[in-house]
Amino acid sequence: MVFAALITDSFIKRSYTIGGSMKRTRNLLKTTRCSWAAESDLLKQYHDEEWGIPVHDDKKHFEMLILEGAQAGINWLTILKKRENYRRLFRGFNPNQVAKMSDEELGGCLKDEGIIRNRLKVYSVRKNAIAFIDIQREFGSFDQYIWKFVGNQQIVNESGATSGLPSETEESRKISKDLKKRGMTFVGSKIIYAYMQAVGLVNGHSVNCFRYHDCLSFRKNTEEKQTHEYEGGCLCDETTYIAKGEPINPHLCSCTMCQKSSGAPTVAWVEFSLKEFKWTGSQPNLYRSSEKTLRCSCKKCGGLLGTLNDGYENVCITISTLRNPSLIVPSKQHSYKENAPSWWVPKILNKSINQLNTGIHLQSNQCVKNQKNERKSGL
Ligand SMILES: [Zn+2]
Ligand SMILES: [Zn+2]
Ligand SMILES: [Zn+2]
Repeated sequence: MVFAALITDSFIKRSYTIGGSMKRTRNLLKTTRCSWAAESDLLKQYHDEEWGIPVHDDKKHFEMLILEGAQAGINWLTILKKRENYRRLFRGFNPNQVAKMSDEELGGCLKDEGIIRNRLKVYSVRKNAIAFIDIQREFGSFDQYIWKFVGNQQIVNESGATSGLPSETEESRKISKDLKKRGMTFVGSKIIYAYMQAVGLVNGHSVNCFRYHDCLSFRKNTEEKQTHEYEGGCLCDETTYIAKGEPINPHLCSCTMCQKSSGAPTVAWVEFSLKEFKWTGSQPNLYRSSEKTLRCSCKKCGGLLGTLNDGYENVCITISTLRNPSLIVPSKQHSYKENAPSWWVPKILNKSINQLNTGIHLQSNQCVKNQKNERKSGL
């Protein structure tokens, strides 16, 4: 679904919903919207209320991935009309339930005229659900995984073009390749680019579409959120750091590597993008604790500050070295909880204080990798 020119509705008064919550009414002398949406009321509604708004809900991500895949070779309006049938047949797009569907159940779907009856497409829904769950396990959520590809910020069509957006981009090719590697099908780079626009990874609206600026304001909100700064340092204050941007994956870990390097039963971690992180005092001492992991500690006092992983774009920082550790709550996840001594029962808070970190964390991918490396290297 890549759309070109624009259409103008003159002198209309309309109301629409932004982000599903705030309701606004606008008097518009002229409403200009992306031309593809003019065909029908259903398309208009989808364009005005859903398309391009950043999605952060895994179930919605899964739904849009599947619907965009189903759309291959068919027009989007046809799919939108069948959307309720897809929801009904594919368990409300709950990936956990879809992954458990039997061949018989999928066969039943193939007989249902409410959806596109293409065998490969129907079977790919289950296949994709399985890969989707694996991604959730590895990254904490599909949302965390997918937004990393765009640096956690919506890509804006800044060309000023009112027509001729590309049908695929470097990012969509990258995502497509990675999803295929993880076992998904019907995720070609053009399908993925359409998906990226649908879930707001890209602002695909034409610059003179009235929704273009609404979507820009979503972007601005994220920018404001990302100006927050976090400072921290070791016990003796010789090794200090400053981090900007959104804290990622705040979680607890009781893997043996965390325990042995900190001396504590459990360590609280948070990640920051390396692009926005810098050491401000002395450089830390780097100790290679496993094949791919470097532990960072103070050269003077020996305090553990964080870890760096080869080829990983984030630095992992121990929350207790922050100037204000209560700013970040290691919500929900406790990796390798079973390794914690029986007398140690950390209380995991499930609410964030400043709402910066709301990611649901199933298992920290880095801790899983570290643990694997540790086993390999026999530490
Ligand atoms: Zn538009
Ligand atoms: Zn120190
Ligand atoms: Zn750990």
